[in-house]
Amino acid sequence: MKFGSHKAINGSLSVFLGFDIAGIVITVLGGVLPDILDRIIAGRNEWLFSRIHRKISHWWLLWGAILYLCHISFFPVIFQINTSEILWYLSFGSLLHIACDSLTMSGIPFLNPFKQSIGFRLFYTGSGAEYALVRDRSVILYQQWRLVVTKE
Ligand SMILES: [Zn+2]
Repeated sequence: MKFGSHKAINGSLSVFLGFDIAGIVITVLGGVLPDILDRIIAGRNEWLFSRIHRKISHWWLLWGAILYLCHISFFPVIFQINTSEILWYLSFGSLLHIACDSLTMSGIPFLNPFKQSIGFRLFYTGSGAEYALVRDRSVILYQQWRLVVTKE
């Protein structure tokens, strides 16, 4: 999926889940983190990028392990900042990114972090189908959120 799609999905879902503003922002950052990590590692080398993209940075088990470590407050509090809480939102956002990428034709790694072996393969990245799905999911989440907020 494209950056904008990941940001829209992560933003609308984190608002729907009632995250505070910091949680929303960090979840949106987590939603683009796996692709940013691949870009940082590959630099401007497109050949290298095509070899490493959607491999270990898109491995659900890695982000799931970080999420679990955050859940048990493994990471320290530094200057009154709970790093476990920050990393929880980042890893949650990254897991959402991976779930969304699993819908595309390229797929994601499952057990082997160096092979894109599974995916629902519903559409190509950047296609009209991707944007329609993102638009529909975001609108539905927003409407559900408004229903919950107006009932309170
Ligand atoms: Zn990705």
